[in-house]
Amino acid sequence: MHCRRGRVMTTEVRIASCSCGQLTLTISAAPVRVSVCHCLACQRRTGSVFGTQARFPTDRVVVNGNSSRYLRIGDGGGRTTYDFCPLCGSTVCYSTEGQERLTAVPVGAFSDPGFPAPIVSCYETRKHPWVVLPEGIEREDEEVDRSG
Ligand SMILES: [Zn+2]
Ligand SMILES: [Zn+2]
Repeated sequence: MHCRRGRVMTTEVRIASCSCGQLTLTISAAPVRVSVCHCLACQRRTGSVFGTQARFPTDRVVVNGNSSRYLRIGDGGGRTTYDFCPLCGSTVCYSTEGQERLTAVPVGAFSDPGFPAPIVSCYETRKHPWVVLPEGIEREDEEVDRSG
């Protein structure tokens, strides 16, 4: 929080970026949900063993730069569209049909080790056995397919 001209500015502004930096998001809201997803599609997309993503109100997310899109149909039939940089391939955001008021952003795109920790863990049937999650994290039904 910063004080400017006597007014307390409570809006958090975060920048998310692809690897090469041509595609960025400017987000002027706190995350409404931070989750990890262990599903195989998130493993493939991220190249890691789980995806970590934060969701923000879409109307507080401004996209700058060129993006390409990939539509993935989930196990439960959900349609999720991923926006990624055509130059370096990093996914910077995605949204799921029917839930367009929220935009998901891969947490790594913020390059911020101080980013809030996940509160929900999804699709644990695909979790690598060595992954240890924060104590008390909420487990979500894996029938819910919305990419975390
Ligand atoms: Zn890029
Ligand atoms: Zn997933």
